[in-house]
Amino acid sequence: MTDMPTAPSPRPALEEWHLAVVEAFDVEPRLRRVVFTADTLDQLDYRPGQALVLRMPLPEGGTGRRDYTIRWLDREAKRLAIDFVLHGSTPAPSWARTAQPGDTLLAHGPRGRNVIAPDADWHLFCIDETGMPALLHMLERVPADTIVHALIETASEQGETPIETAATLTCRWLARDDVPAGPNGLVLEALRALPLPAGRGQAYLMGETSNVRSWRHHLAQSGMPKTAIASEGYWRPGRIGGHDHVDD
Ligand SMILES: Cc1cc2nc3c(=O)[nH]c(=O)nc-3n(C[C@H](O)[C@H](O)[C@H](O)COP(=O)(O)OP(=O)(O)OC[C@H]3O[C@@H](n4cnc5c(N)ncnc54)[C@H](O)[C@@H]3O)c2cc1C
Repeated sequence: MTDMPTAPSPRPALEEWHLAVVEAFDVEPRLRRVVFTADTLDQLDYRPGQALVLRMPLPEGGTGRRDYTIRWLDREAKRLAIDFVLHGSTPAPSWARTAQPGDTLLAHGPRGRNVIAPDADWHLFCIDETGMPALLHMLERVPADTIVHALIETASEQGETPIETAATLTCRWLARDDVPAGPNGLVLEALRALPLPAGRGQAYLMGETSNVRSWRHHLAQSGMPKTAIASEGYWRPGRIGGHDHVDD
């Protein structure tokens, strides 16, 4: 008897959230927080570091998909916050700049693979400012004395946000000094100078795709197993929405 070909199992549909803006304010000059509510938010189950796909209004009409990290969720109050980097006049920051209480957005999710690996001996974050909401939320939740190293690219020193964590954190801030964001060697140079601790490590790489790829290649060449390197290109010059899996 021959096996019948089986259809690939469909991806489970992402849950849908009808978000309404409660308030919006600048956390820093280049970062705007939007707090949302929805009747069903008490049912949102996610892990810190995961994101929602927002249906962002486009200037030409209709909506486009943009991924944004859940910065925090208060299930009891049915409130959720998202931090938008104000990098330009593209759809997402333009929407965030003018968001008013009562404005609505459709969201799907949660999704994303960049979540804390509980069994690692140490953790390494290499990010630019788009990975900051994930880092802040993930580090809020790690147990005391978790060993964490972080290399963080920011636009300027103003982006050096206080990090609330019980972890033993060694952090290096790398300001671009208002050079536009994009492919650069800032984090890579710092990473080359960082001796990796002994034991089993886990890396979380989030930022501009070609930078993420260079960090991943360096870590792999330094002997880190590729399975211990979670790497996602969160944006790239010329790319519209979506993200790049960096697996090579
Ligand atoms: C899983 C995931 C989680 C993310 N979480 C966050 C988050 O919490 N906060 C956040 O601010 N971003 C986050 N991002 C990044 C964000 O989704 C992208 O920056 C997205 O492209 C923004 O949409 P847009 O409408 O501004 O630009 P798009 O219309 O998508 O892109 C237009 C152009 O803008 C430029 N561009 C896009 N993003 C940037 C940037 N950050 N800096 C400089 N130039 C840029 C590129 O040249 C691009 O071609 C996340 C991405 C992923 C995949």
